[in-house]
Amino acid sequence: MRFIDLRSDTVTKPTPAMLEAMFHAEVGDDVYGEDPSVNALEQKVANLFGKEAALFCPSGTMTNQIAIRILTQPQEEVICDRMAHIYNYEAGGIMANSHASVRLIHSSYGKFTPEDVLENINPDDIHFPPTALVALENTVNKGGGCYYNAIEIEAISKLSKEKGLKMHLDGARIFNALVATSEKAEVHGKYFDTISVCFSKGLGAPVGSALLGTEEHIKKAKRVRKLFGGGMRQAGYLAAAAIYALDNHIERLADDHRRAKTLAETLAELPYIAQVVPVYTNIVIFQLIDNLSPADFSAWLKAQGILANPFSKQSIRMVTHLDFDDAMLEKVVKVLKSY
Ligand SMILES: *Cc1c(COP(=O)(O)O)cnc(C)c1O
Repeated sequence: MRFIDLRSDTVTKPTPAMLEAMFHAEVGDDVYGEDPSVNALEQKVANLFGKEAALFCPSGTMTNQIAIRILTQPQEEVICDRMAHIYNYEAGGIMANSHASVRLIHSSYGKFTPEDVLENINPDDIHFPPTALVALENTVNKGGGCYYNAIEIEAISKLSKEKGLKMHLDGARIFNALVATSEKAEVHGKYFDTISVCFSKGLGAPVGSALLGTEEHIKKAKRVRKLFGGGMRQAGYLAAAAIYALDNHIERLADDHRRAKTLAETLAELPYIAQVVPVYTNIVIFQLIDNLSPADFSAWLKAQGILANPFSKQSIRMVTHLDFDDAMLEKVVKVLKSY
């Protein structure tokens, strides 16, 4: 059976046109800095966000972890939301890679405010880890894909500057946020010291993320990437896919958002759904009623040809993406209504 796969926006395969771009990529040894396609991608994505430099890495986990490593010292503290990917899904990397402590904000849907940050900055007292870094996620994965707009980020950035804190953006899905807000990448870019962007999520590239920052940040980041084992050789084939994605797959994210909305509207009407987390971009998280287990429902969906993972004790997540079209949407809607 050919499944309709809504487990994540990472499941997409390169399109024929993307493969064509990869096939024709000029490559070299990127550890020597000699891969023209990687260099072109780094320059392109840095420019897009108004940053001086960028570093192509194998994953968003690596770009986030490198950022935390270069923006903190051991014993310092990172402020992030309890829903943050850097805290939940990076294998304890903040502790293991940076020997840093974490302070979790308990906001709703993973989106916090300057007041939340202020409450969580430690006083200058030897009992406490020194607060060093504020990390935002945009869009928030666990928060159902909700996003910050530039005004909200500016307010957090202003406070962070006043308090001498660095700012990192986990922008695995920043392009979803930019499409949803119709705001420019460089407007968001200026509020952060470092930014991680993923090409392998909504943009539909097979592999890769970039870390963006100043020349100095990226020089340090390159050393840490080597330490983490992330120096790649003829990575230009992957960079070519990412360049293709930046040129061709950003605007179409609006289609993913529209399809996610339709899924949410369908789910909201169904008697076995207790709640749908508000949908803003391409992520749909919904809670099942108490006597229906996510594992059972997910197994039933699979038997109908649809893949969607249990996401928490009572919820399921569906993510729309490049390989999910209107015909598939129609089928999923029909199946959901038939349960
Ligand atoms: C996917 C994701 C990442 C990075 O994941 P990798 O699989 O390591 O590329 C980081 N942050 C968020 C919010 C994500 O969804």
